[in-house]
Amino acid sequence: MTARKILTIFGTRPEAIKLFPLAHALDADERFVSRICVSAQHRDILDQVLQIAGVVPDHDLNLMRPDQTLDGLTAALLTGLGKVMDEEKPDWVVVQGDTATAMSGALAAYYRQIPVCHVEAGLRSGNIYHPWPEEVNRKVIGTIARLHCAPTETSAAALTRENVDPATVHVTGNTIIDALQWVTKRIGDEPSLATGLADIEARFAGKRIVGVTSHRRENFGGGLEAIADAVRRLAARDDIALVFPVHPNPNVRAVMNGALEGLNNVALIEPLDYPHFARLLDICTLMLTDSGGVQEEAPALGKPVLVMRETTERPEGIEAGTAKLVGTDADVIVAEANRLLDDEAAYSAMARAHNPFGDGNSSARIADLLASS
Ligand code: UDP
Repeated sequence: MTARKILTIFGTRPEAIKLFPLAHALDADERFVSRICVSAQHRDILDQVLQIAGVVPDHDLNLMRPDQTLDGLTAALLTGLGKVMDEEKPDWVVVQGDTATAMSGALAAYYRQIPVCHVEAGLRSGNIYHPWPEEVNRKVIGTIARLHCAPTETSAAALTRENVDPATVHVTGNTIIDALQWVTKRIGDEPSLATGLADIEARFAGKRIVGVTSHRRENFGGGLEAIADAVRRLAARDDIALVFPVHPNPNVRAVMNGALEGLNNVALIEPLDYPHFARLLDICTLMLTDSGGVQEEAPALGKPVLVMRETTERPEGIEAGTAKLVGTDADVIVAEANRLLDDEAAYSAMARAHNPFGDGNSSARIADLLASS
């Protein structure tokens, strides 16, 4: 049997986190010739993941530009990724999730009639402006893909409801659990990979840690300001410290630095590499976030998550009781966080390790599907 050539395409931090386990699996498997193309829709925070995972791209489009528009980015992605496909002539293209890179990769493959495997298929919020533009990106990929790797039964059902052929939909789990297990083991083998928070841990000794992340495009403006206000108000408590790795997006930085710099028990820090973010998840009491990936990782670790979004395409954590939607109203965020910090019963009801998103073997399942489909 000749090996199948798989071109895996990604460009942002969360895609890299969710695809490095598959890249490892394909590399180690004689059934495949694996090629990696990164768009670098993100640059530094993408490179952080490539480095820790030991993934060396065969192609790097280096497309990140300041103040890039969505249409400018998409145009550059389509032509850039198309050229790579013409050169590589892969048997399959793999994309993950819902970014402009993933959508453009799927479209460029479709223009060449190359089959597409969609990792993390079928997530739907039902609202095309939340998350924006990712809800529609994901639907476009769903229309094109020949192999849909749905993380959960819920996401598989969303696809079949949209008349996707059930024979092409497979519940594989979410590869983020593979990534989290991999990085946890790496830290176990080499603890120095995650000791960079020691100063912060010492500075806040005796306080409970609340982790915060926020970067959603639909929260730019009022939403981010409300989140900053909530963090500032929570920082008035002297029994907690808020550790906030600030996303490099200038829209996020301007608001957060302006509102939160100089507060005694708020640490505004640079984005953490994946081992250090895993460490933050480990030491925190709870997470406040608008991130997709953190909504998946925190339940796996039994850490309550307050989701600062109006809606989510990941209802599983909420149904399992480890995540709660709190929107972007500062009063609600503060009240819900205080409730978890003050009411032990409310806290333990949410702090149950539960893993609706996978068992850590998703990449192996996807590799088997790529070999047999
Ligand atoms: N993450 C990280 N360092 C950070 C913040 C987040 O490694 O400082 C990881 C986190 O563990 C998760 C992913 O980045 O796996 C989430 O990415 P992000 O929130 O940027 O995007 P989303 O998941 O919302 O698409």
